[in-house]
Amino acid sequence: NPLQGAQFTLAAHRVRQLPADEGAEVAFAGRSNAGKSSALNALTGHRGLARTSKTPGRTQQMVSFALPPLAQGEGESPLEARLIDLPGYGYAKVPEELREHWKLEIDAYLHHRASLRGVVLIADIRHPLKEFDRMMLEFCFTTGLPCHLLLTKADKLSRGQATQALAAMRKSFRDGLHATAQVFSSTAGTGVEEARTRVVELLRT
Ligand code: GDP
Repeated sequence: NPLQGAQFTLAAHRVRQLPADEGAEVAFAGRSNAGKSSALNALTGHRGLARTSKTPGRTQQMVSFALPPLAQGEGESPLEARLIDLPGYGYAKVPEELREHWKLEIDAYLHHRASLRGVVLIADIRHPLKEFDRMMLEFCFTTGLPCHLLLTKADKLSRGQATQALAAMRKSFRDGLHATAQVFSSTAGTGVEEARTRVVELLRT
C-alpha cells in the first residue's frame, strides 16, 4: 500500500498555514458525516489517522498528512507527497460565518495551490449530491482539477443498487468535468485498492 505510513503534519485554519507548496498533494473533501475520515483511515491503513466521530461537523480545519516519498522514474528523485483533509462543513450545525470562511478558503486553495493534483470527493452513495458536493464539482470544473468521487457506505446497498447509483452518477457529470467515480465502503473494504491506485495516479500527474 503506497499510502501506508501517512503521518499527521499539521492542522491549519488558513491556506497559508499549510506546508510549503511543493511536491504533490491530493485533497479529500466531503460533507460532515459523509465518511471522509473513515475513507482516509481505510486508504492509509491507519485506523486512527483521521479522527472519525459520531458528532458531525467537528472537523473544522485543513489537516495535512505526509506520505512516504513516492518512487518516480529512473534518475528522478522521489516525489514528496501529501494528503490534505479539507473541512467538511455542509452540516446544519456549522454557523453561517464559518461556512463562508471555509467556502472562501477552499475556493482559494483549489484555485491557487500549485502542488494540488486532484480532489477526492466523498459522498454517501444512498443520497443525491448535496450543495457542498456540487460546489466542489463546480470548483473542479472551473479550475480544471481532476476529481475522483468515492460513493461510500456502499455496504448499505445491494450490489445491484450500488452499480446503478454509480452509473447514474457518472451520467450526471457535465461535459468538460474531469471526474471519475467508484463504489466504496470503508466498513466492507470495497473499492479501497481501486481508490489507492487512483490517488497515486493523481499524485503522479
Ligand atoms: P466524516 O465526518 O466524513 O469524517 O465521517 P466519518 O468517517 O467520521 O463517518 C461518519 C459516520 O459514518 C460514522 O458513524 C462511521 O462509522 C460511518 N461510516 C463511515 N464510512 C462508512 C461505510 O463505508 N459504511 C458504513 N456502514 N458506515 C460508514
